[in-house]
Amino acid sequence: MHKIIIAIDGYSSCGKSTTARGVASRLGYTYIDSGAMYRAVTLYFHEKHISLSNEKEVLQALENIQIEFRPKENGDCDTYLNGLNVENEIRKLYVANKVSEVSALAPVRHEMVAQQRKMGKSKAVVMDGRDIGSVVFPDAELKLFMTADPLVRAQRRQAELLDKGNVMDFEEVLANLKKRDQIDTTRKESPLIQTEDAEIIDTTHMTLDEQIEMVCIMADMVLSSSAQKA
Ligand code: C5P
Repeated sequence: MHKIIIAIDGYSSCGKSTTARGVASRLGYTYIDSGAMYRAVTLYFHEKHISLSNEKEVLQALENIQIEFRPKENGDCDTYLNGLNVENEIRKLYVANKVSEVSALAPVRHEMVAQQRKMGKSKAVVMDGRDIGSVVFPDAELKLFMTADPLVRAQRRQAELLDKGNVMDFEEVLANLKKRDQIDTTRKESPLIQTEDAEIIDTTHMTLDEQIEMVCIMADMVLSSSAQKA
C-alpha cells in the first residue's frame, strides 16, 4: 500500500495536533508533534539556565538533549526528555511563553529538523508544526495550512489547559497566542508561511471530528490518485 507524508502547519491552537493525531490513528500512521520537541528543548534550556544569546552554550546543550515519543496504553504518545516524561510540564504557560524565542534559534531548528526528517523517513507520518510543509518535508504529498479566529483559538487553548488542571486567565492565554504567532511568522529562520501548494483549512466553525474527516477525505484522494498513477 502506498504511503504518504501529511504536513499540517498553521497558527497556535487551531486544532492541528488533535486533528493530526486523529488522522494518524484513522490511517494507521505515526503522529509526530514537532511543537512538543521545541517545547522539550525550551524546558531543558529553562532548567539548565541556558543563555539564548550564547551560541556555544546552546550547541552544547543540544548535544545533551534526547527527545522521544513513547506510546501510552490508549495509543497516544507522551513526550520524554532525557528519559523523563515531560508531557504535562511542556504544556504549561511558562514554557509556552519562551518556546517561540527558543525555536527561532538556528542551531535549535537545524537539530530538530534533522530529527524530524529521520522520523519521517519511512513515510506513513502525520506531522504538525510551523515549517513542516515548507522546510521539513517540502515534498510532502499532502500539505495543509490551518487557521482560525484568535478568540476561538484562545478559548480552545484555555479549555485544554484547564483540562490538564492549569487554570489560566483568558487574556493571558490570548496574549501568549498572539505573541507566538508574531514571533513564528516574522522570524528569520524558517518562519511560519503558507506554501502555495498547501490547502487552507479555517477551523473557526469546525468541530474536531469535522476537521479529522476533512483531512482523511483529502488523504484518501491523494492516496487513490497516486495508486492510479502507479
Ligand atoms: O505546536 P505548538 O503550539 O505546541 O508549538 C509550540 C511552539 O514551537 C510554536 O509556537 C513555535 O514557536 C514552535 N514550533 C516551531 N516549529 C515547528 C513546531 C513548533 O517553531 N515545526
